[in-house]
Amino acid sequence: MSAPTVYLTNAATVRAAARGSERSKRCVGPGEVWCIMVRPRHHYGEGGDGLVPALVPRVEDLDAIRLGVIDFGEYRRRYVVGVVADLSPGALMAQLWADPRDLGPVQDGATLICACSQTEAAAGRCHRVFAADLLATAGWRVVLDGTRWDEAVSAERRRRAREGGA
Ligand SMILES: [Zn+2]
Repeated sequence: MSAPTVYLTNAATVRAAARGSERSKRCVGPGEVWCIMVRPRHHYGEGGDGLVPALVPRVEDLDAIRLGVIDFGEYRRRYVVGVVADLSPGALMAQLWADPRDLGPVQDGATLICACSQTEAAAGRCHRVFAADLLATAGWRVVLDGTRWDEAVSAERRRRAREGGA
């Protein structure tokens, strides 16, 4: 059996896919939509069905990057160090906004969203990119803004291993 797939994109893309945009549909899974943001604006659909607490950045780190106290390298480092939960399929948990005690595993085909544009994400200036790395390492097939990310991650790892061995 192949690994379950998780999609990562932004709320605007989920809305566009719902309106029928073919390009956006490739970025969104058939399953539930889960938020990984600190302060989702629910009226823009940023909240999705609920929250994946393990992948939400810390408020103080988010404020530090916004104020320019730290750079994106440091923000990424803090984010990766801060994610301590088991992210593997079956262990990664989501909770419904309607009832946060209703905790269940993120299912195959789910989509995780934040609000950053695809341009910001492509430039690596968004925590969903860091989350994509962590999820790929944890055993998910990962589609980041319509592109298979786990394959990119393992190719990069193979490249580094080759260079390390040379
Ligand atoms: Zn983001």
